[in-house]
Amino acid sequence: MKAKWWQGSLLYLLVLVALLALAFSFFPVNKGPKEVDLNTFIESAKTGLIDTIQQDGTTIIGVKNEKPVVRASFVGSTKELIDSLKDAGINLGDNGIKFDVKTGGIDWGSLLLSFLPLLLFGALLLFLFRSARGANTQAFNFGKSRARLVSGDKPSVTFADVAGVDEAKGELQEVVEFLKTPQKFLVLGARIPRGMLLVGPPGCGKTLIAKATAGEAGVPFFSISGSEFVEMFVGVGASRVRDLFDQAKRSAPCIVFVDEIDAVGRHRGAGLGGGHDEREQTLNQILVEMDGFDSNTNVIVLAATNRPDILDPALLRPGRFDRHIVIDQPDIEGRKAILAVHAKGKPLAKEADLEVIARQTPGFSGADLSNLINEAAILAARRNRKDVGHKELEDSIDRVIAGPEKKGRVITKKEKELIAYHETGHALAAKMLPNADPVHKVSIVARGMMGGWTRFLPTEERHLETYERFKDMMIVSLAGRAAEQVAFGELTTGAQNDLEKVTQIARRMITEFGMSEKLGPRTFGKREELVFLGKEIHEQQNYSDKVAEEIDSEVEHLVKNAYTRALEIITEYKARLKYVAEQLIVKETLDESTFEALLKDPLPSSYLQAAPAS
Ligand code: ADP
Ligand code: ZN
Repeated sequence: MKAKWWQGSLLYLLVLVALLALAFSFFPVNKGPKEVDLNTFIESAKTGLIDTIQQDGTTIIGVKNEKPVVRASFVGSTKELIDSLKDAGINLGDNGIKFDVKTGGIDWGSLLLSFLPLLLFGALLLFLFRSARGANTQAFNFGKSRARLVSGDKPSVTFADVAGVDEAKGELQEVVEFLKTPQKFLVLGARIPRGMLLVGPPGCGKTLIAKATAGEAGVPFFSISGSEFVEMFVGVGASRVRDLFDQAKRSAPCIVFVDEIDAVGRHRGAGLGGGHDEREQTLNQILVEMDGFDSNTNVIVLAATNRPDILDPALLRPGRFDRHIVIDQPDIEGRKAILAVHAKGKPLAKEADLEVIARQTPGFSGADLSNLINEAAILAARRNRKDVGHKELEDSIDRVIAGPEKKGRVITKKEKELIAYHETGHALAAKMLPNADPVHKVSIVARGMMGGWTRFLPTEERHLETYERFKDMMIVSLAGRAAEQVAFGELTTGAQNDLEKVTQIARRMITEFGMSEKLGPRTFGKREELVFLGKEIHEQQNYSDKVAEEIDSEVEHLVKNAYTRALEIITEYKARLKYVAEQLIVKETLDESTFEALLKDPLPSSYLQAAPAS
C-alpha cells in the first residue's frame, strides 16, 4: 500500500515539475493586464471589451471571460467607484457589467503571478495528501460561500425604484412587514412564508424587486446564483449553501436571494442514468436548510426563475417555495413607469414624451428600457446637448433592439394585430359560452414563447368536469384560430398551443372519460409513468388498430365540431371582435372590467359594416 502511494506521488511530482517549467515560460513574472488611464478603462467597459470590473485596493481590473485585460488606478471607496462608473454611463448589474470587490489592498494579480509556482506547488502537495487520505476537497475552502453582502450591508433601492409591478410589490410588502416586526405575526401564531418564488422572464426586475424588499425592510441582502453552484467538485455546492445560510442566520433578519434557481432545482432523477450529482446535492442542501428554519428564524428566501415548469416539485412544497409571485413583461403603462423611474435624475427635454416611447417598445423588458434611457443619455452627450431629447430616445430604441443585450423579441405591427385578434377571439368565445370560465385578463404582451395570453378565472374550484364544459373549453381554445381566419383569412402558427390543448382534451374525453357515444363508457390504453425516463408518460396500446382508428375519427369529430362552433361565434360577433381587438392593440392589456365595458359599448357605425381588419 505504502510503496504504491509513494510511487503515485512521485509521478505527480514529476508532472508538477514539468508544469512549473511550462508555467515559468508562459508567465514571465509581473506580466499583468495592460495599464491604462481611467477614461480608456471606462471606454473599454462601454465598448464591451470587458465583462467584469474588479476593485482591488487602488487598482481596478477589467476582466473579459475571466481573463484580466486592462487595469487602471482608482483611489476611493467601493461606493465612490460604483457611483462614478454609473455616472460614466456604465450599466452595472446582471444585464450589464459585473462588479466584484476583492478584499485587501494588495495587487493580487501580480502577487499571484509571482507566487504562482509556489502556490501551485503547495496546492498540489495539499491535494496529494488529501487524496491520499481519502478526504474530500474541503481543504481548499471551495465551499466558502460566495454570497455577497451587497454594498456591505443594506441595499439602498426601495419599491420606488421598481416600476410597473404593483401586484408583486403588494405581496412583497407582507415580507417587508414581517422582517420589520416579526412579533406582530408570531403573536398571532401565523406561519410566515419562508420561501417565495419570483417567476418571470429575464430582465423584468426579479433581482431588483428582491433587493428592494430588503431595502424597504432595512435588512441585509445575500445573493447567489444557482448557476454558480454548478461546480466541478461534488460536495462543494452543498457546503457553499451551508455557509450561505449560516451567514444569513447570523445576520437575521435578512433576505437570501437565489437567482436562476432552475440551474440547481430541476426535476431530480429526470433523464437516464440519474441526475447530476452536484446539482442534486446542492438542491438537497437548500431544502435541508429551509426545513431547518424554526418559527423565529427571521430569514426569508426569495428565488428567481423564468422556468417554473421544470422545477423539482420538492421545492414547491409547503414551507418551501410555496408562494409564487409573477413578474411579467411590462405592458404600455408599466413601460412608461419604468422609463420614468430611469429618467429620474437625468435632464429630460420638455418635448420628450415617454408615453410615445412606451408605445413603440412592445416586448422590451425593464432592463431593455433602462438601457434605452442610458443609450439616449450617451447619444445626447455625443450630440453636445444639454438634455436628453425625444429624438435621442427614439434613436436609442433601434440601438437597444440591435444591441447584444436584447433577448426578447420585438413583434411587428402585423404580428401584433394577429395576436390581438387571436386573443380577443378566445375572450369573446369564453364570454358567449355558458360553461366557460370568466375572462380575467387579456394581453398581447409576449410571455415566453407565447405571443399573448388570455387568463381565465374559474369561479369555483372544480373536481369534476362535465361533457359540456369540455366542449366549451375546446371552442374557446379554437376561437383564437377562428378569429385569425375570420379577420385575416389566413392561418398562422400562433395557435399551435391551442391546437395541442384541444387535441388533448378530445383524446382524453374519449380514451379516459368514456365520453364517446360510439365507443362507449370505457377507457383505452394503459398509462404508466416511467420514472427513469423523467416525466414522460408512456401509453400502452391495449386495443386493436381498428379501435385506434375509431378513436382518431372520434377525436377528429369532436375537434371539427368545436371549430365550426368557434367560427360561428366569431363570425356572428365579427364587428365586436374588431372593436375589442383594436382596443387591445392600443392598451396591450385589458382587465376584466375594461373587457366587459368594451363588450357593452355601443359600436360606432363604422364597425357595423364589419369591415375586415387592415
Ligand atoms: P431579472 O432579475 O428579472 O433578470 P433584474 O432585476 O436584474 O432582472 O433587472 C435588470 C435591470 O433592469 C434592473 O437593475 C433595473 O435597472 C431594470 N429593471 C428591470 N425591471 C424594472 C422595473 N420593473 N422597474 C425599474 N427598473 C427595472
Ligand atoms: Zn391561443
